[in-house]
Amino acid sequence: MSENSTYQKLRSHLAYLRLAAAAEALPGELDHAAKAKLGHSAFLERLLDIEVAATELRRKAGLERFASLPAPWRLDDFDFDAQPAIDRKLVNELATLRFLEDATNVLFIGPPGVGKTMLAIGLARASIDAGYRTYYTTAADLAARCHRAAIEGRWATTMRFFAGPRLLIIDEVGYLPLASEAAAALFQVVTQRYLKSSIVMTTNLGISSWAKIFDDPTVAAAMLDRLLHRSVVFNIDGDSYRMRAHRARADKLRKGVKPDRTT
Ligand code: ADP
Ligand code: MG
Repeated sequence: MSENSTYQKLRSHLAYLRLAAAAEALPGELDHAAKAKLGHSAFLERLLDIEVAATELRRKAGLERFASLPAPWRLDDFDFDAQPAIDRKLVNELATLRFLEDATNVLFIGPPGVGKTMLAIGLARASIDAGYRTYYTTAADLAARCHRAAIEGRWATTMRFFAGPRLLIIDEVGYLPLASEAAAALFQVVTQRYLKSSIVMTTNLGISSWAKIFDDPTVAAAMLDRLLHRSVVFNIDGDSYRMRAHRARADKLRKGVKPDRTT
């Protein structure tokens, strides 16, 4: 077989196997191998390396799209000095993602603006970066989606969907009261993940007032039981970070200092 037809064959093999990045890099890598006098295995290693990197990138992008994070926040951007109620060491420990291994849940409890969503998204981001399937939803969206699913006869599929991700973020539990159907959905999601895979939940409600958002206090108690059995709980009381920025600006104004436009 001539060198040219071997080359054509090789290209079509790569295309058939859907190794597009390797196919594209082939001519350049062949040239390089000839010039640098690479052996067969060194050449093949370089070519496959290109394909592996491209696959990895595609996988990351897919995880990223799937996760539907509403903001690009990272744990590194969190200002721990501004929020002394939060145990920085504990957050750093969580950032190692060891908590995913034994399906530990994480609860961020506190009033609006203290950084609950930011921390939850920071953990989600770490989980995506580590290659875990991660999904973000608010409690209201979860309820709406389950409601639609029930109407359209897709309840079981939807429940399987929420059981799937290695890490599930449920943001803003308790902002809106949950109708009994929504509470049942949340309860089932928590129950089917119990001891299998982690949930990071944020809520403005202290644990003692959970009964209030559920019609049925027994459901609330049973759900809390499963959530808390293996969990890390952050009670964040401090000031709202947003309010802090406003206040700093107001203080400066009062003192006659020109407000800093960046805050
Ligand atoms: P919550 O979910 O508790 O209502 P968020 O996480 O949405 O609060 O935070 C409100 C805003 O303040 C966001 O823009 C967030 O990035 C910012 N923020 C809150 N706490 C901090 C912090 N400690 N360091 C940096 N930014 C913060
Ligand atoms: Mg929030």
